[in-house]
Amino acid sequence: MSIRAAGSVVLVGIALLGIPRPGNAAPASPDGDFPVASEVRLGGDEMTTRMIIDFSKKVDARIFTLANPYRIVIDLPQIAFRFPAATGESGRGLIKAFRFGLMMTGGSRMVIDLTRPARVDKSYMLDPANDQPARFVLDLAAIDRESFIRNIALENRVREPAAAVKPPVKSDQRPIIVLDPGHGGPDNGTKAASGEMEKDIVLEFAQVLRGKLEKGGKYQVVMTRSDDTFVPLVDRVSLARAQQASLFISIHADALPKGEGDAQGASVYTLSDTASDAEAARLAEAENRADVIAGVDLTAEANDVADILIDLAQRETKTFSVQFARGLIETMRTATRMHKNALKSAGFRVLKAPDIPSVLVELGYVSNKQDLKSLLAVDWREHTADSIVQAIDRFFTTRLAGGGRGNGQN
Ligand code: ZN
Repeated sequence: MSIRAAGSVVLVGIALLGIPRPGNAAPASPDGDFPVASEVRLGGDEMTTRMIIDFSKKVDARIFTLANPYRIVIDLPQIAFRFPAATGESGRGLIKAFRFGLMMTGGSRMVIDLTRPARVDKSYMLDPANDQPARFVLDLAAIDRESFIRNIALENRVREPAAAVKPPVKSDQRPIIVLDPGHGGPDNGTKAASGEMEKDIVLEFAQVLRGKLEKGGKYQVVMTRSDDTFVPLVDRVSLARAQQASLFISIHADALPKGEGDAQGASVYTLSDTASDAEAARLAEAENRADVIAGVDLTAEANDVADILIDLAQRETKTFSVQFARGLIETMRTATRMHKNALKSAGFRVLKAPDIPSVLVELGYVSNKQDLKSLLAVDWREHTADSIVQAIDRFFTTRLAGGGRGNGQN
């Protein structure tokens, strides 16, 4: 059943035959009639590892490998993942951990982190039979780094198509604000000890903020994502540029790694070549890893916006970004507690539109008890979103009045 095993692209080609759901499959999905993935089992050791995934019906899988770090990506049609909690957080043998979720480019994806270089030895899909669900079997075998890299070079995988971007509505002259809830799909972002995930917290917050901005009627609001889907960082920036946005606000929630003490409060980040301090550098590195976590192939992005240097042409944009960030800290302070050093800067990929004032807001720390309590509270969300609207209003009032230039130089 394995169609092509050259290199490490393996197509498991089984058409969606509309096989009836087997008796013991997971309950029908509330979000459509997508195939349900109900369980994953791992077996084997550091030399050979087998992964078995139960599906409610047969699906097509496209498998490819990525280096730095070593990963195996399984692209699937849209799947309703119904795995038990904590599935994928730890692995076995060659599999360190894995993630799963929706991708903006369509379909679902599983991203497997490997403990060492490995190749796909076999992969196939088993028919549902009797009481058994359809089963996807993936056999991995350890190889050396050189072979791993060679296999990637041999793959002739199809590039993911760039995001389809709708042109801006020209008849509407109101400024366009892009809200960018971080992470999504297989990339959960930070996670609270009690299990709440950054991707959900920031999406919910962005929805509230969007509602308030739209209700005010002064702006057009565009979201980089409005559901639990992963959007590559470069596409978030491209979307804002294609929309000719006037302001880009990326929304996140931070966490301090265990054993690194406690930190609290919201921060606002702008783009800079060198990080303002070690914490900003750590955070930018963590946020910039989103594409790696979601299994996005970065090797082919030669003309990445991320490579655009901050030069003189961007100075005005930078000035406006810093001006907005300062205003934001002022108004947010009335609604929520701020980090003791709330204005910071670092090389965030998502802030690299050269012509759009852009900030990244860390709403708080999911690793801090009180911050987390706020982040999950409806009241806090309302007040904090209001304070952001206030800062946006002030920013545009100043800009439209021709002010702001030469102010806030940094
Ligand atoms: Zn984040």
